[in-house]
Amino acid sequence: MRRPRLDGVSPYPKDVLIRRSHPISRLMALLLKEAMSKQIAIVGAGVSGLTCGVLFAERGYRTTIFAAETGDQTTSAVAAAIWFPYDAAPLDAVIAWALETYEVLQPLGADPASGVSMIEQRAFTRAGELAIPEWAVSLGARRLPAADVPRAFSSGYTLAVPLTDTTQYLPYLTKRFRNAGGEIYGGIHLENLEEAALDCGLVVNCSGVGARTLLPDREVEPHRGQVVLVPGIPHSHATVCDDPPLMYAIPRADDCVFGGSNDPSADRNPDPALSARIVAECSRALEIEPPSVLRERVGLRPFRRSGICLRADRLRDGRRVIHNYGHGGSGFTLSWGCAGAVLALADSA
Ligand SMILES: Cc1cc2nc3c(=O)[nH]c(=O)nc-3n(C[C@H](O)[C@H](O)[C@H](O)COP(=O)(O)OP(=O)(O)OC[C@H]3O[C@@H](n4cnc5c(N)ncnc54)[C@H](O)[C@@H]3O)c2cc1C
Repeated sequence: MRRPRLDGVSPYPKDVLIRRSHPISRLMALLLKEAMSKQIAIVGAGVSGLTCGVLFAERGYRTTIFAAETGDQTTSAVAAAIWFPYDAAPLDAVIAWALETYEVLQPLGADPASGVSMIEQRAFTRAGELAIPEWAVSLGARRLPAADVPRAFSSGYTLAVPLTDTTQYLPYLTKRFRNAGGEIYGGIHLENLEEAALDCGLVVNCSGVGARTLLPDREVEPHRGQVVLVPGIPHSHATVCDDPPLMYAIPRADDCVFGGSNDPSADRNPDPALSARIVAECSRALEIEPPSVLRERVGLRPFRRSGICLRADRLRDGRRVIHNYGHGGSGFTLSWGCAGAVLALADSA
């Protein structure tokens, strides 16, 4: 198998397919089974696939990622990527995985190359008093004094959370994966999971909204989100309000992410009228002049009606598969907790 270039993604390697046209001995079959059990194929190169890739590769598994889209093309690259449980179910599991992820991301903030930093997040409501959730209390959240509540809101709380700047964090995960021996092949659209490298005994399915057609799993529904990138704003804290209309402003090192929207749609084209609404609402809430627009972006949150799918199963050809998709609006927030659960399932067999 050819190694991918470090700065890019390799084309599909024909030799990843093993065609077993000759009968093999029992010993050979056992050896092959043993070797295959340490070889993992991951489908998907978003935050879920890359995080699983890092965990498996750093544990010594021979790990290969196959994906239709990589890097900037993925939904993961569009995310504001602040740690915050949102638009994902079931709540108990979401909070547990989110808190595990917090524990991993917080220390990563000490490594400037990771693109992770701790940021003050101010969460607001437009009417009444915003209750501080129990999980936020456990992380030290406290109510904001009236003087810190902008006129657009009625109350809020503040909390320190990890922010993953996707422009740095996704390349960081990719590099860490490759340094551990992992390989990534992009531009590969699979019609079904059985097509994933036949020499791998375990397939990990991190296909995000793609699971809707890949499996197919009709429980998955795209929750379209549009953001607008603007130049840096005068605030160093993040502002979030998930009452309708959803509004957030997330300052990053080189720009600021204004959001947002959440509609059941698979349309990936930016809507200029929606961008104008987002900029107007964020500027009103932040009490600043509307900034210029650097870029508009759209991503499809992989929401799953009956909750995140994280479970082991068998493919039609008998190989093991572990599904890890349906993280909705919380893929970054849940990434390490879910990847740890995937690894535990793999190790338990
Ligand atoms: C506007 C917006 C803002 C967001 N903000 C946040 C936030 O602040 N915090 C947070 O935690 N989350 C946020 N999210 C949610 C987060 O982006 C997603 O939950 C996360 O990106 C999902 O990651 P994933 O790896 O599961 O899927 P994706 O990033 O979609 O990756 C899926 C991968 O699977 C591949 N794939 C799919 N089908 C196939 C196939 N048939 N064959 C081969 N490959 C396939 C794709 O090519 C891709 O590589 C936001 C999302 C949006 C849209």
